[in-house]
Amino acid sequence: MDENCLFCKIVAGEIPSERVAESDLAYAFRDVNPQAPTHVLVVPKRHEPDIGTLADADPASALAVLTLARDVAEQANGGSYRLVFNTGADAQQTVFHCHGHVVAGRPLTWPPG
Ligand code: AMP
Repeated sequence: MDENCLFCKIVAGEIPSERVAESDLAYAFRDVNPQAPTHVLVVPKRHEPDIGTLADADPASALAVLTLARDVAEQANGGSYRLVFNTGADAQQTVFHCHGHVVAGRPLTWPPG
């Protein structure tokens, strides 16, 4: 755990969150600023700054994030969804604890902004 990390504190229960699902290695909770009817963040319980570093450091946790995101999306919207990992400041990453955004429940456009 990184003691300065918002999402580590959410995983630890030190900051409240609206829990959606959980596995041994990953945790899913609702985004406070939803961009679609379903907008869930899926994070590894282990602290890593982004999906790339997580994949190198702990492939099992990276897989756990992907499978929990799929499970959340299937339950929420029948499996039609977008899974977004904003990675780096230029890509609008603001919280540097790896997280996938599960976005679903409305028609989505492409390309993203
Ligand atoms: P990103 O910009 O990809 O780093 O996404 C960070 C996301 O975290 C944003 O969509 C925020 O709305 C969301 N967020 C920030 N603080 C919280 C919180 N305490 N609980 C739930 N979601 C949060």
